[in-house]
Amino acid sequence: MNKLIEVKVNEIKGISKKMIEHLNELEIFTIYDLFYYLPYRYENYEVANIHTVNTDDKITVIGQVVTEPVFNYFGARKSRLIFNIVVDDVIIKITAFNRDFLRGKISKGNHVTITGKFDKNKAQIVASELRLSKLENDRVEPVYSLKSLKKPFFLNVLKKALAQFESLINDELPLSLINKYRLISNKDVFTFAHFPVNNEQIRQVMRRIKYEELLKFQLKIYYLKEKEHKTNLKELKVFNPTDINNFIKNLPFELTGDQINVCNEILHDLKSEFQMNRLVQGDVGSGKTVVAAIALYANNLAGYQGCIMAPTEILAEQHYDYFRNLFSHLSVRLLTSSTSTKNRNLILTELNENKIDILVGTHALISEGVTYHKLGLIIIDEQHRFGVNQRKSLREKGGTPDALFLSATPIPRTLALSVFGDMDVSSIKQMPKGRKVVKTYLIKSKLEDRLVKFIDQAASLGQQVYIVTPLIDESEKMDLENAISVYEKYKTLFMGKYNVGLLHGKLSNDEKEKVMHEFKNNQIHVLVSTTVVEVGVNVSNATLMVIIDAERFGLAQLHQLRGRVGRSDLQSYCILVSDFQNDKTQNRLEIMTKTNDGFEIAEEDLKIRGPGDFFGSRQSGLPKFKMADIVNDFKILEVARDDAKVIVETKELMINPEYFALRYYIERQIIENNELFD
Ligand code: ADP
Ligand code: MG
Repeated sequence: MNKLIEVKVNEIKGISKKMIEHLNELEIFTIYDLFYYLPYRYENYEVANIHTVNTDDKITVIGQVVTEPVFNYFGARKSRLIFNIVVDDVIIKITAFNRDFLRGKISKGNHVTITGKFDKNKAQIVASELRLSKLENDRVEPVYSLKSLKKPFFLNVLKKALAQFESLINDELPLSLINKYRLISNKDVFTFAHFPVNNEQIRQVMRRIKYEELLKFQLKIYYLKEKEHKTNLKELKVFNPTDINNFIKNLPFELTGDQINVCNEILHDLKSEFQMNRLVQGDVGSGKTVVAAIALYANNLAGYQGCIMAPTEILAEQHYDYFRNLFSHLSVRLLTSSTSTKNRNLILTELNENKIDILVGTHALISEGVTYHKLGLIIIDEQHRFGVNQRKSLREKGGTPDALFLSATPIPRTLALSVFGDMDVSSIKQMPKGRKVVKTYLIKSKLEDRLVKFIDQAASLGQQVYIVTPLIDESEKMDLENAISVYEKYKTLFMGKYNVGLLHGKLSNDEKEKVMHEFKNNQIHVLVSTTVVEVGVNVSNATLMVIIDAERFGLAQLHQLRGRVGRSDLQSYCILVSDFQNDKTQNRLEIMTKTNDGFEIAEEDLKIRGPGDFFGSRQSGLPKFKMADIVNDFKILEVARDDAKVIVETKELMINPEYFALRYYIERQIIENNELFD
């Protein structure tokens, strides 16, 4: 355990009340907080070679003053300090403004360190910083965010505390790991982080802190996983593999290799004595639904009820239609918030009496009163659209059901293993045979005439078109107005030629269903929609996706939208319309034109948005790191993950005293964040 946590900053010798207040304002309460109040960056004053620097470079030089300094006054209380120094035999004129306080303190013969902008022609530096010493070993300076507290005072308190509490500093990391990776000790961490002498020390601080943070993060995941594994035993599911094979043979298509592999992994989980907790990630259109169907089928053969929850009604209805047709011999029901009370009551009764085999629905599935007779499998489609608690609620609907999560937000598998460490992860990377790559173009809105012709052309071939209108600053009302105006425009343009439909979140469920139904039946040819169309909708005759004001969407979302087309062997297109302002937006959108690989796009998106936004910090359970970053420090993360796995699996964490400090830390974290499953 870390003793520094137990000591309040009030115990620093001679600390003033005022200083305690300052520190508390920065949320520094204990010595631990103080020592870990790390700089957010370092200013680099590494001394420049005067012979190789150029005009306008910001440089630091050390030199000797060779002329008596002169103060000139101008304007109202403004002053200019001028003197010459010699650096490496070169005479440089130094100008500094408003340094009255140096009057009488600087004179010929002194050594000074100057930082400022260099002018080669004039051999001059306009000093932004001027120090009266050589400061040989003060070349990197920590920069903190300290609110009203001044840095010298902060460093002073730190220095005192380091001296006073040095003996309490210990390492939670065991010596074996410190030695293995040649990490610096915590004592050095604090000294080097706050009082660095050179860049190498800072590098060492970062290596140590990043590794330690990521190791703790991974240890916690494996620790929880182990705990859950032990407690979550279930009845094995028994079914005849021949039945499954026949079912697969009767599908209208052949499964891809990836689909087969993932199915095998799932079937293996169902048969095992441990509850399944598996994430299947695969790009839009990679065919996750049929995998879910096979799982539901096996679960049913074993004598259990199953359910699948989707984030939108449209998607739930689509699944309902699909499963009802596929499982015509079973009793499949749909439960959403628009199910009538009478039907709902009937469904709840039948569910309890085991008269329903498969229940499809939305959030309604986790509402009160939904209880099963013998629930064996829960599936959550587009799982990233649900919060942790919603996913948990569904799992708690009785018994010890196996859980399968489907996600079309692919993330690199290794990263998934680290982030969703408590789940097993399967990936479907292969697309079904015959799929053509969706051709994607980025255009400006002034090319609208050509866009209209392009839409006309697709529709004239009997194919269908989506036009998605942008999100406007989260205001649903404006989103709607926007969608309506686009709809009116195209309706007028294609009057008497094609049917234009409108889909948005404000329509009643009946209306939505009617529109989607008409689109599916090719009665609507051009569908203008807000992003309600985003998730999972499947109309394979649609070949053109137009996205207006594309810059307003995230890459992952654009990729999802694009996945609505390219669902048949027809050539499909995606047109991104954007009057982007800057290079950054343009580069971001251009990624879409260059690749169709969701994993690659996810990686780019991750880089641009950072992991917090990407995963949505609420649902991901990602901790806030001081220095580590799971994207940029992925290499360290991998090492930490492998170490954590071994430490937990070999039980070292529980039995080896070397690891007790770490174990204590992790257990406390889990209790504080209330993460223990019971
Ligand atoms: P997603 O992974 O995005 O949920 P779906 O499960 O909706 O994708 O599948 C997209 C389409 O591909 C569906 O029409 C489905 O019937 C079809 N499909 C799935 N697997 C195959 C396959 N192996 N061969 C051909 N078509 C397939
Ligand atoms: Mg899907």
